[in-house]
Amino acid sequence: MLVSPYTGRGRWLRGNLHAHTTNSDGKFSLDELVRNYEALGYDFLVITDHNKITSVEGVNSDMLILPGCEISSDKGHIVAVNLREPIEPNRPSQEVIDAVNAQGGVAILAHPNWGENFCHWRQENLASLRNYAGIEVFNGNILRDSGSPLASDRWDMLLSMGHKCWCYGVDDTHSELDLANGWTMVLADDINPEGIVEALKEGRCYASSGVFFEAIETNEKSIRIVARNADRIAFVGRHGRWLKWVNDKFASYRIRGDEVYIRVEAFGPHGSMAWTQPFFLISQ
Ligand SMILES: [Zn+2]
Repeated sequence: MLVSPYTGRGRWLRGNLHAHTTNSDGKFSLDELVRNYEALGYDFLVITDHNKITSVEGVNSDMLILPGCEISSDKGHIVAVNLREPIEPNRPSQEVIDAVNAQGGVAILAHPNWGENFCHWRQENLASLRNYAGIEVFNGNILRDSGSPLASDRWDMLLSMGHKCWCYGVDDTHSELDLANGWTMVLADDINPEGIVEALKEGRCYASSGVFFEAIETNEKSIRIVARNADRIAFVGRHGRWLKWVNDKFASYRIRGDEVYIRVEAFGPHGSMAWTQPFFLISQ
């Protein structure tokens, strides 16, 4: 049986989960940052300064602005969405993740392939840590830094080991160069903190660097995908293997039964992509 996180109704809301202001190393003030994302038509924005919770009280915006933090130490950066109280960054990563969850936040391991050795997070740490919601499969800031903005390689290794781990796309905004390179689309009934947090934790979302999914549908035997601006759709299985791909904006995949998991990657204009969450196969 195929388990899909895309259950329930709602509408797709576009948001950035990782952004800095002048309160840490960002170029924009909180107000400038908010105006930039409003102009881009976003529905929600999470403020994640390094080791500081920038107050979002009293910000006047049609977008939902959530407080958060990028809990940053040499052990690795952890993006915490919906964080209200600061967390000591030098604690072991597992304690940081547990503390984020205890506050009702969402813990996301940031830019795994950042750095000259493409290893901000060691794979064994990604594999041994527990109860984080997922990883940044795309971090736009790393487009202009060392390493890779992509981390689907790391993600497939985790999924292949049986880790239930979601993917997110983010800008990691520091300046205007980072605006709208990567984002997360969330399926929620309404724009409120509880709905967004729940959808992020339950994987009712997908990551994008430019491609939009219009339909992500499953039944017991197949997956059907429509991606409005894609020119290739690939079904990816265990150990990152491409199970099937088509050069079109519509695609479907018939389940064999031995895949363990299947996830979908779509490719669109100018090198853009989108990533669904994995669909796990479980025996009944
Ligand atoms: Zn950051």
